[in-house]
Amino acid sequence: MTTTERLQRLLTVEAAATPGPWENEFGELSVEGERLIVGGWGGPPEFGTEENHRLVVEARNNIRPLTQALLDVLELHQPEAPYGEADPERHCKGCGTHVSFTRWPCPTVKAITKHLGDNND
Ligand SMILES: [Zn+2]
Repeated sequence: MTTTERLQRLLTVEAAATPGPWENEFGELSVEGERLIVGGWGGPPEFGTEENHRLVVEARNNIRPLTQALLDVLELHQPEAPYGEADPERHCKGCGTHVSFTRWPCPTVKAITKHLGDNND
């Protein structure tokens, strides 16, 4: 799975969840038997800390903008052959870095894919 596919899958999961923004109101947690209930989300009671609740809320509210920002950057930073496809010279159309297929990706794409995995098809 490429970085772009991973990010697109994350957006699909986000879109299927209850729409945000969510609020961090810790008092809305409840426990049913062995499970912690945060809205429709359940987990073991030991996960019912305010910090964990805050993490769920922050993740919900930030997944889409952060993921979309990375996809937009990856879309901008693509190799192009300014003198035609037969020309072996390549430049990144986003940052202008002179690259060839052996040195791709450009530093910007490399900074993203080192955390999220290779982005080759
Ligand atoms: Zn670039």
